[in-house]
Amino acid sequence: MKIKVSCMQCFSNGQEQDKDKTLPYIPSYPYWEYPTIELDKWPYLEFTCEKGHLTRLTISFELYELLFQQATYCIMDGYYRESISTYNAALERFIEYMIEIMMLSNSMNLDFNKLWKEVSNQSERQLGAFYFLYSIHFNELPPFLDKNKVALRNQVVHKGKLATKEEALGFGKYVFDYIKNTLHKLEGKHPDTLGELKAMRHFRLIKPDYEKAMKNPIKIVVDGEEQYLGNTNMAGPCFLTQESIKNYEDCFKEENQLSYGLQR
Ligand SMILES: [Zn+2]
Repeated sequence: MKIKVSCMQCFSNGQEQDKDKTLPYIPSYPYWEYPTIELDKWPYLEFTCEKGHLTRLTISFELYELLFQQATYCIMDGYYRESISTYNAALERFIEYMIEIMMLSNSMNLDFNKLWKEVSNQSERQLGAFYFLYSIHFNELPPFLDKNKVALRNQVVHKGKLATKEEALGFGKYVFDYIKNTLHKLEGKHPDTLGELKAMRHFRLIKPDYEKAMKNPIKIVVDGEEQYLGNTNMAGPCFLTQESIKNYEDCFKEENQLSYGLQR
């Protein structure tokens, strides 16, 4: 999967060149000239544009959102067993996200890094923690994972099963609905504070890279003045957040494919 994103220096150079332009307005640095880079890390990456400018980028997407996107692209490209294992990775990372947000809503002073380290290699323990936390948090039983879907996942991941397109679509729809329904519950419980909780998690995730970048900031020139940048933050839509995507099937519609940001 790739990401199409502007170079900060080219962007401000373009703005400077376009200052006095009138209609018809054709930008000097249009989005189709933005670099398309391999999305092989999260949440921090860096790239150098054709002109040699370095951009450091922190992406606001959650890892589960990126994995879901990639799994859906796998189906579009005909890789069905890969889509199931990647949808499964999305679900596991979503469970991690839920655990942290529920814990933060209870106490903002937890050292989540230390806590997570103890279970980071054991997805069964993570699932158990999620079930019990969810029960306390919402005062009802959690959405237990579907046994048939777990069996399919195990066959794909551990036995090399070659899945059909129907199996992959069924698995994708299951993960889409699971995540959307659970997020809906979470938003209902924290209508005013969810943004803050998410920001706290994001800050924990980017802190090490941000601190490293601030020690060696990037110099750019805007309006003839030197400015120093740490990391650029990039947010954008994805299948799990696009307003126009109400059902899983909508992910495959032509009009819901993105021209900027995440790319197949
Ligand atoms: Zn550039």
